This record gives sequence, structure tokens and C-alpha cells, in this order.
Amino acid sequence: MSRARARNLVVDGTRPDLTAEDDVTLQTRPAPQGVLTGTPVVPGVGTGPVVRPAPRPALPAPAGDVPEAGRAAERERFTAASAAVADRLAARAAGATGAAAEVLAATAGLARDRGLLGAVEQAIAAGSPAPQAAVAAVEQFAALFAQLGGVMAERVTDLHDLRDRLLAEMAGEPEPGVPSPEEPSVLLADDLAPADTAGLDPTRVVALATRLGGPTSHTAIIARQLGIPCVVAVPGLDAVAAGTRVLVDGGTGEVVVGPDPAAAAERTEAAAARRRAVESWRGPGRTADGHRVEVLANVQDGAGARAAASGPAEGVGLFRTELAFLDRETEPTVEEQAQAYAGVLEAFAGRKVVLRTLDAGSDKPLAFAGAHDEPNPALGVRGLRIALDDPGILDRQLDGVALAAERTGQRPWVMAPMVATPAEAAFFAERARTRDLVPGVMVEVPAAALRAEQLLRSVDFLSLGTNDLSQYTMAADRLSAELATLTDPWQPAVLDLVARTAAAGRAAGKPVGVCGEAAADPLLGCVLVGLGVTSLSAAAAAVAGVGARLAAVDRGACEEAARAVLACEDPASAREAARAVLG
Ligand code: PEP
Ligand code: MG
Repeated sequence: MSRARARNLVVDGTRPDLTAEDDVTLQTRPAPQGVLTGTPVVPGVGTGPVVRPAPRPALPAPAGDVPEAGRAAERERFTAASAAVADRLAARAAGATGAAAEVLAATAGLARDRGLLGAVEQAIAAGSPAPQAAVAAVEQFAALFAQLGGVMAERVTDLHDLRDRLLAEMAGEPEPGVPSPEEPSVLLADDLAPADTAGLDPTRVVALATRLGGPTSHTAIIARQLGIPCVVAVPGLDAVAAGTRVLVDGGTGEVVVGPDPAAAAERTEAAAARRRAVESWRGPGRTADGHRVEVLANVQDGAGARAAASGPAEGVGLFRTELAFLDRETEPTVEEQAQAYAGVLEAFAGRKVVLRTLDAGSDKPLAFAGAHDEPNPALGVRGLRIALDDPGILDRQLDGVALAAERTGQRPWVMAPMVATPAEAAFFAERARTRDLVPGVMVEVPAAALRAEQLLRSVDFLSLGTNDLSQYTMAADRLSAELATLTDPWQPAVLDLVARTAAAGRAAGKPVGVCGEAAADPLLGCVLVGLGVTSLSAAAAAVAGVGARLAAVDRGACEEAARAVLACEDPASAREAARAVLG
């Protein structure tokens, strides 16, 4: 049976290791075996029995008022529960690092949030039993967060997770969410709360797969950081019962139900060998036949840059400056900005650093920049559009960059986000050149890709932001778990635009990189190089995987894979076609 046939089979009794004739025989057997296919996000193979998150507690039914005399006890019950939940999450945060620690600490912070605790206590004082008071207060905050939109809206999942932990604690039930299995197991779920994913122990949970979620979801980001093989957006996953043996291949996106033990062992060992090759990769980026491709890191502050600089990243391909100022109510001064930027420039002294000017708005709202009451923020005044209305904010940021450049002796590249027209590119380039900075723009809007040649008349480089480019090409919200297949960067329509942009760069003799999540996928990275991109920039944790994969293939094979991918009709067959060429 071909791998192509094995794809997308639901758990229907077919097996990929059998021939078509065998399939016919098997149709009479209802054995729950087969291959489910989703979106691969963290390469590697894990096999073991399935564990599933413990069910969430039922919400309490409405209840009458607690008599005055009993209210102190209710308050006590809630205070003890919130302290226990916060302490447990904080202890896990202390034992974790990076994004996992941040997520756990943030959820612990919610459990101690004065506003939230105050709202619960107020409801208890008014006669509500503690569980009902907690639910009501959480809903009140969730509505507020949802209204604020962007990253705040994403925190609604954290709030609901916290509510469930509080309810279980007050009821004396076990903590909801992910169990800590005795033997190495595979975690399957519909979706995971950030705190669930962040608390995973990679020695117990050797792989994970979710029915929902996209490549940029919290689950994907944390799994990547923890190095747990992961596949998301797997249809049919809910039919696989706890205890069933499965194999998850985070490189191919396959979840094999009831794998043959010998084949599973072989596949796991091959993945481990690949991992060893990744761990020993030191750069610089080049294909096996010596074609040079810069492999860079995405960072958001000096600490992240220092961590990235201790690994094999050659430089920074995307410094998301807006993330350094997410918690600011007022615009940072030029001096404050210069210090933040210098932290990153110093970490990569003498090496390339591409700094993106503020990409405020939509999923990254900044209190001091842009409009906040737009009906459709992703299509609104965000990124460079804010500066078109208010050039001062861009000028002050570029002054801060120029000051950091002067202090560190570096000449950073700067690029503007959300550019749609050549006139916008020229507006930005002029301001950057005045300050002796190297100007470029991000290609995130299909119009920019279609007119790349014209953009390159005023700027020195382009950087493809495939996260937004996918969202705008496919008209599908990048945060929507339901639309993950549409926002998959392997969508041939998105790759057509990448090819067109890279061709414009080649014709102009100017570099065109990729800094969206597409560049974190080692197989897709090879395809992007085949399409003509000159650099790949990814989360620091993904850099070595991309570099090692590239080092194992020739440029010609990358180009052949790129041609094969562009001839496909959907992401699944595009991946298959690339794998057939690149192995
Ligand atoms: C992108 O859109 O691909 C990108 C790199 O920018 P961000 O993810 O920060 O929007
Ligand atoms: Mg973007």
C-alpha cells in the first residue's frame, strides 16, 4: 500500500503496511487500526499507550443564597483552593524553563490576581456559594478579555483552565487536565490548555497529538520548546481510546493506531538518530553541495537573543520589537528603546540582526499604538499602517534603533510589517536610509508578494512572514483552530506567492528570507530554499533542525521538491511530494 493511500485514513481497519489485497480482507475486521494524518509541528517519533486528559469538572448548578453565618466558611474554602492551585502552578513554573515556565507562571498569576479574587469574594459576600462565585467571576473576566481581543482573548483559555482547577480543588477531586503516566505514553486530546502543555514531562509524555489546534497554537509552541514530537489538527483522533498503543510521527504528521512493534521500534530509532544529527549541527547554513543559506533565529528581547546566540543561529532574522513592549501603557522613550535594541545587537555582535518595527494591532495590541475599537482588527490599522497615520511613532523607533546601532557599532537591518504597496515600502525605506539603517519590508500581504518587484525598487531586502501571508492568502484567521488546514504554510497558493517573491529578489539581486513559522519546518525549509529564498529564520529551538536537514540535501533536490510541491493541490499532497524527493 502506498504512503499516499495510507494518508487520511480514518480508523477504519486499514493498515499502511499491507497491500491493497490485504486491505480487502481486513475490511471484514473492525480492528481499530490505521493511520490518521494531521499537521506535523515538532519532528520526532514517540510510541506508547494513549493517555487522555482527565475530564473537566461539571459546572455547578445554580444554588440559593448561603445564609450570612455560612459565608465566612465559603470564603475560606475559596481562599484555600485558590492558594493551593496557585502554589501548584508556581511550583511547576519553577521547575520549567522558557515559554513553558512563562505560561505556568502566567496561569499561577491569574490564580492570585487581586481583581479576580476580589470579584469572587464580593460574590461570596453577597451570598453566592464559593463554586458559583468562582464561575461567575471567571465569566466576567473572560468576557472582558474576549472584548479586548488579540493576545488578551487568547487568555480566555487560561481563565477557563483556572476555573476548572478551582472547582476540582473545592470539590476535593483530582486536578483536571493531563495525568502524569507511570510508563512513557502518548497524550491525545481535542485541544490542550496552555498550562496543561507547559506542565508536560517529556520523559513520561513521549509524543502528543490534538484533534484541533494549528501550527502556531500554544500547544505547538510549547511542544516545540519541550522537544516533544507533536501533530495537531488530526481528524478522527477522538475515536482512539485511552490505553490503545499508537505511534506519533511529528515529522510526517502521522498517528499510527496499533503499530507493528518491530516497525515502530525501527522508526523510533531512526528518529532518534536524526535527533542526534540535529543536536550536533553547528552551522553555518548550507546544503550538502555547499549552497549557502543563512539560518537565523527569531527573538523578542535581549535575554532571548543571548539564549539564541549560545546555539548555532548565525544571526537574528526577526526581532519582534512590539513583544518587548506589550505591557507598556505609554510609548517607551527613544532611550528606553535604544537600550532594548542594543541588548539584541550586543548578543549578536558582528552578525546580522533584522529588527522589525512595531507590529502593533490585531493579535498583538499595544496600549500606546494604533486604534483599539476596529470591527476587524486583522484587516485594520496595524503594523506600518499606524505609522502612515502617525509617522512620529516610527521616527522615534528608528531613532532608538540608530542610537543602539551607534552604541554597539552594528548596522542593523530594519523592516516594516504589514506593507501592501510600493509607496508604503518607499515611505519606510526613506526614513531608514536617512538614519543609515538597511531597509527592507515584510511580505505578509498577497498584494506585496504580487508586486515584490516594485517593492524591491526602494528596499534592500524582503522577508516573507508566512504566518500572516497564509492568513491573508487563504482568508482564514491564523488563530482559528478550526481553520488550521487553510492556514497551513504548505498551502500551494501560499507557496506560489513565496516563489514569486523569491524570483523578484533573484532578478533584483537582493535577499529574500522567510521568518514565519514555515521556516521552522525542516522539510518545508528545504522547499523554500528550492523556491529561491536566501535565509530561514525560526524560533531558536528549531534552528538546528532546519540547518541539519538542509545540510543533508543538495540544492538541486530542493529545487526538484519545490517544483513537485507547486504542482500539488493541497498541503497534505505537497508534504508527501516533498518527502518523496527529499526523503
Ligand atoms: C508572520 O506573519 O509570519 C510573522 C513572522 O510575523 P508575526 O507572526 O509576528 O505576525
Ligand atoms: Mg506577521
